[in-house]
Amino acid sequence: MRRLASLGMAIAVAVTPVAVVTTTATPAHAYCLTQISRWKYASYTLHSRKSIPTSWNASVKSAMRQWSGIKGSGLKYYGPQVRSNAANPAFQIEKINFANAGIPDYPGITLGVEKSKGSRHSTAAVELNSRFTWNTSGAMSQSKRKTDVWTVAVHEMGHASGLSHTGACGAMTKAEKASVMNVTWTKKRYPNSDDKAGIAKLY
Ligand SMILES: [Zn+2]
Repeated sequence: MRRLASLGMAIAVAVTPVAVVTTTATPAHAYCLTQISRWKYASYTLHSRKSIPTSWNASVKSAMRQWSGIKGSGLKYYGPQVRSNAANPAFQIEKINFANAGIPDYPGITLGVEKSKGSRHSTAAVELNSRFTWNTSGAMSQSKRKTDVWTVAVHEMGHASGLSHTGACGAMTKAEKASVMNVTWTKKRYPNSDDKAGIAKLY
């Protein structure tokens, strides 16, 4: 499978908490679309696999909803269908052991299939690494390998939706640093105005 984003959260070294930012970045670089394309269609149902603990369901659903129905965008997500065993769903989330799968030691990764580079993708699988210690309370610690389900899921679903890391497009503004697409190892559950502008641009 082609990786939509082999860009896990572990590659970030920034640990400085990002202050709340009320300014809006200039539109030209408000979001980054450079490495990932958008979905082929604008509506998908998320299938949450049996490997996702029931106690994570609310976080997974909340993360998914952040990207659905954004003003000015036609992108819609439905579900999640929990404990799904559907064959080959277009959009899924699961927990796997990245070491066993030969994936770098990130908390999360999004895998997908594109017919060719830059073409719209027809599948996306959000993978969460079982080798991290997950919680639903918002705790994030790179050194302790603590990861908040919602924070990581919303970031990976941003990739699935077509957003790259904001830093992949050059120097970031304050607002871009506050994006959920900029990894900071802090609790960051809500797409900001830049993230939403990116989705509105794509769909
Ligand atoms: Zn990422």
